[in-house]
Amino acid sequence: MAIAATAPRRLHQRPCLRPAPSAYNNRRWKAASRAFRSRPENVSCVECRKHKRLRRSTQTDHIVPHNGDEQLFWTEANWHA
Ligand SMILES: [Zn+2]
Repeated sequence: MAIAATAPRRLHQRPCLRPAPSAYNNRRWKAASRAFRSRPENVSCVECRKHKRLRRSTQTDHIVPHNGDEQLFWTEANWHA
C-alpha cells in the first residue's frame, strides 16, 4: 500500500490507545516504551493500522491486560504500540 508520500507527518493529537494510568508513569517504563516504539515494526500505531491509517505510535500498551502483574507488565511479547 502506498502511504509514505501522503501520510501526515504530525503526531497524534489524541492518542488512539487508552490514556496511560499511573503504572506507566515512571522512568523505566518510559525508556522501555520509547525503545520499543523506535523499532521499525512498532513505529506506526497498531490501532490506526486496523483502520488502514498510518500514524506514528505515541504509546506502548499491553495486549493482555497486566492487572498489576509485574511479569506480564514487562513481557515484551505482550506489548503493542
Ligand atoms: Zn493511532
